[in-house]
Amino acid sequence: MERTPDLGLGDSSLHRYLDGEFWSLKNEMRRALGNSPLFQPRYDLSLDEMRDLTNQRVKFVLSLPLLKHILQEQEEKRRNFISRSLVLGEVLCMVDASTCVKCGIISLLFGGAINNLGSPEHVTKWFWQLKEQKYTGMFAMTEKGHGSNVRGIQTEATFDLDNQEFVIDTPCEDAQKMYIGNAMYGNYAAVFAQLIIEGRSQGPHCFIVPIRDENGNLYPGVTAIDMMHKEGLNGVDNGILIFDKVRIPRENLLDRFGSVAPNGQYHSPIQRKSARFNVMLATLTPSRLAVAFKAMGTMKLGLTIAIRYSHSRRQFGPKGKEEVKIIEHQMQTLRLMSHLATTLALTFTSRHASFVLDEDIFQGRELINRRSLQALMAGLKAYSTWETVSCLQDCRECTGGMGYLMENRISGLKCDTDVFVTFEGDNVVMLQVVARELLAQYNKKHKKNPVLGLIQGWTATAGDKLRTSFPAFNTDMVGHLAFLLKAVNFRERVLQRSLVSRLHYKVVTKKGDFFSAWNSCMHHIISLSLAHIHRVALEQFSLAVRRCPDREDQALLMKFCLLYGTKLVFQERGWYLENNYLTPTASMRIRAQLLDLSESLKDDALKVISAFNIPHTNLHAPIAGVLSSRAAWAFYPAPTPTLGHWIPRPAGARCHQRSPLSSVTQIPSDFEKLGCWVKKKSKHKNQTPSGKRGGEKLHPLQARAKVQQGMISESDLLQLC
Ligand SMILES: Cc1cc2nc3c(=O)[nH]c(=O)nc-3n(C[C@H](O)[C@H](O)[C@H](O)COP(=O)(O)OP(=O)(O)OC[C@H]3O[C@@H](n4cnc5c(N)ncnc54)[C@H](O)[C@@H]3O)c2cc1C
Repeated sequence: MERTPDLGLGDSSLHRYLDGEFWSLKNEMRRALGNSPLFQPRYDLSLDEMRDLTNQRVKFVLSLPLLKHILQEQEEKRRNFISRSLVLGEVLCMVDASTCVKCGIISLLFGGAINNLGSPEHVTKWFWQLKEQKYTGMFAMTEKGHGSNVRGIQTEATFDLDNQEFVIDTPCEDAQKMYIGNAMYGNYAAVFAQLIIEGRSQGPHCFIVPIRDENGNLYPGVTAIDMMHKEGLNGVDNGILIFDKVRIPRENLLDRFGSVAPNGQYHSPIQRKSARFNVMLATLTPSRLAVAFKAMGTMKLGLTIAIRYSHSRRQFGPKGKEEVKIIEHQMQTLRLMSHLATTLALTFTSRHASFVLDEDIFQGRELINRRSLQALMAGLKAYSTWETVSCLQDCRECTGGMGYLMENRISGLKCDTDVFVTFEGDNVVMLQVVARELLAQYNKKHKKNPVLGLIQGWTATAGDKLRTSFPAFNTDMVGHLAFLLKAVNFRERVLQRSLVSRLHYKVVTKKGDFFSAWNSCMHHIISLSLAHIHRVALEQFSLAVRRCPDREDQALLMKFCLLYGTKLVFQERGWYLENNYLTPTASMRIRAQLLDLSESLKDDALKVISAFNIPHTNLHAPIAGVLSSRAAWAFYPAPTPTLGHWIPRPAGARCHQRSPLSSVTQIPSDFEKLGCWVKKKSKHKNQTPSGKRGGEKLHPLQARAKVQQGMISESDLLQLC
């Protein structure tokens, strides 16, 4: 009978708290993927093979009963369906980012367009078949000439009154749909195009356009060009779509926000074209939050691998003594612990955002009217993906040459997640959404008298400075969470007020055009938006610490929360010094605090990464203590108390001695099938290579490694059973 691998899933209070309300759903998903051989990482496939495998994986995932259930909930807009689908995306992204992205394109983007932009009839007609995998879809918004500026798209959908059809056309090269995921396999596309009636555009609208039949043949008038290899996500087939007067029925316009009657009359509940498109885009923003969840998942995976290895590998040490574990090196702890603290902050902040979003959708509130939530999602997308890029780079460096090996996963994660900063909205563009909202909030608050608002802002700021730049107070308090919360609050408020003042001067006083004024403040704008997200993240983290029901877990999380706050202030210490918020002494104390906290948390980190609950089969990396048949020589035992220890070795000794293989956390299934030890015979008569007489029992992996290294030949191996 086929044995299911031990996934090593845990169930402590911390496991549950970090996974949140939907921990059992996440475990169900972990088991489904962790037990499937389909999800063994592969790095040796051609582009076509990689895409085929991804298609099989997508099919498998979308057939899972729990996924079907979620899609059903999405259709019925049941309470918490967003949070539930986002946590599944997080788990899936750790297993394979290509599969996760492709599932997202089909269900969240294409399916989301139908659900959010279509009528109930559209949902009935298209969504059920999508759920049942009768066909797959793609989302075609970006064009060669317009990526971030989607408002400028040029694809046309001209209404033909006589035939009751829309004619979808690509009028020029710039209008070609670009980078469309699933373009080489998908059957239908949600195409954004200018709706033209009697020569007049009503702005961009979304249409369902058939691309290819069930046998994979393109429909007449449709051209799909394969974009081939990318830096990562090569399981996803991205392509260019060109339409040559493709005819679709009038009913294929997703018409919730704008419809065309049979007599050609256009109707929309929203009069202004730009406002109408804003509403359409707003309904699609939950997919930005999905990117934040995916990014967070990969940070958890990268950190788990890097921290486990750092607790296992040794380099350098005091003269004449055992070499130290690399986690003992200050830069190692500084880099890994601060990323771990950020990952925890993102965990609680994105969870908060998803709950707010769920509640709004459940209450039937339109997202367009929830600008602060839209800003939070856009900001979280940008912040989490930039943090992911930086975190995975540090994980790669912290695992040295071993981290460069595909088998150890971090390099692959880096390639796959790099584009997270670009798709679903470029990060710099996303952060401008945040800044616009913060300015709107400021104006609303000081509606009656913006000048008085500025004065009040200055007075509040001055008061802050007086309170916090007093040296004795500062040095005493920098270790308190209250100080850190106040500091990030102060930074956001000062940046907000000073941006209002600068824009006011440039546009109102100097009568400059808004675009130039805005552009000349871009660095300020991005700083403000990140300051806002930092403040929200630290507040959400501290709230989560307060709510944690287990005392021990609470104390542990509190230390990481302090580290996160300290990191935020430390990284902007120049700004705080410029603004006299910190004295040089306080700034030095912040640095010392950052180093002390990082150092003190390195062992606690093992508990946290274990509570991320990543199945061994998905962790996969030999340097993280998971045996791999493809790279047995890369194995380092996992640093948990029950799982063996390093054999002490004096500094300068030539050979590393690893702990016995009985400490292995997970043996890959193909080795488990061997189910026995291997007897090794010597090439030399009656002698083992180690010089001892007689045979020697070796673990299959050890044996295979020795064969690979040429120390013994294949024929020396004897299988005992
Ligand atoms: C792997 C991948 C998959 C994709 N999948 C899809 C898909 O399935 N469907 C789809 O429709 N699209 C898809 N896209 C397209 C993606 O959404 C766009 O690439 C993205 O929106 C950015 O647009 P762009 O590439 O044209 O970059 P640009 O908009 O040209 O941006 C380039 C640079 O200019 C800067 N910039 C642009 N505007 C501003 C501004 N206002 N202020 C300041 N700086 C600015 C940006 O910050 C960036 O640094 C995908 C892209 C990739 C790479």
